[in-house]
Amino acid sequence: MLGQLLLAASRSTLVRRSVSGMPLTRKVVDRFVAGETTQEAVTAIQRLADAKLAVTVDHLGEETRDSAAATATAKAYITLMGALREAGVSAEASVKLSAVGQAFDEKMALEHAREICAASPMVTLDMEDHTTVDSTLGILAELRKDFPQTGVAIQAYLHRTEGDLRDLAGEGSRVRLVKGAYREPASVAHQNKNDVDKAYVRALRILMAGKGYPMVATHDDRIISITELLADRFGRSFGDYEYQMLYGIRTDRQEALAAAGHTVRVYVPYGDDWYGYFMRRLAERPANVAFFLRALGGK
Ligand code: FAD
Repeated sequence: MLGQLLLAASRSTLVRRSVSGMPLTRKVVDRFVAGETTQEAVTAIQRLADAKLAVTVDHLGEETRDSAAATATAKAYITLMGALREAGVSAEASVKLSAVGQAFDEKMALEHAREICAASPMVTLDMEDHTTVDSTLGILAELRKDFPQTGVAIQAYLHRTEGDLRDLAGEGSRVRLVKGAYREPASVAHQNKNDVDKAYVRALRILMAGKGYPMVATHDDRIISITELLADRFGRSFGDYEYQMLYGIRTDRQEALAAAGHTVRVYVPYGDDWYGYFMRRLAERPANVAFFLRALGGK
């Protein structure tokens, strides 16, 4: 219930204005966001690289309806990739197509995504709400003609996902499997956590049995145990799949998996447009809301 309210608030301009203006919000946001500037992102990524963690970096922003903002987002990725090269660290990019024009000009989104692919070692397209899935998969198919390693996030909670995965589990594909973070109607997505978890396991099985490279994006220990069983069953060793987790969430678990020899990639968001991302993290876990409220109360 609280989660649903927070997801609704994540799309409210009014709540966005008041939360963004609260003096202590920034302190709490810092737990989930690596900073606002290119230099802060480079520093955070360097720190993760030193801890033997791989990175995919997200320039925060979504649902842009302005072509100047879409162009600025693409430029921000290119600038960051240049700064990372200079600093001698490598990171993949995660891109929300709605931040580069998908909502009003799909062609523009494709062109900006191409520019980002050309500047980055590897790109994964984030998946946003269900109305964008066909468009995102269409753009992915176009990008893969020139950048065959481009990956995509697929959301286990959507009823359509097993069908999509059958098309995507082939040779060379890179799929990041997530549970799904948006508020979706029952007509398109499982509503109950148990059903989502079961759907995740079915999807994971398709990916682990397939020929592509599964990116298992979760903080859920049960899913991690099941991934290990499936890796055994389908003869996948450490380099044949990877784990992904969000910046600031279960850091100890990230480090333990990396120390055990797994590739662990941390999703590092940076930039000043953190509101939607931050609210989805609060919605995922009531304990994070308590943390937020305590900080606002000065504790
Ligand atoms: P849950 O069942 O939510 O959580 C399992 C356990 O993990 C919890 O009990 C708790 O211990 C811990 N945990 C989970 N979330 C938090 C949190 N916020 N704070 C602290 N502890 C927590 N979703 C999309 O819709 N599209 C995307 O493109 C997308 N990309 C993602 C990329 C990465 C690398 C990751 C890790 C997630 C991404 N997500 C994306 C979000 C995803 O859909 C889930 O909402 C999120 O990962 C929570 O699900 P979970 O698998 O961790 O399991």
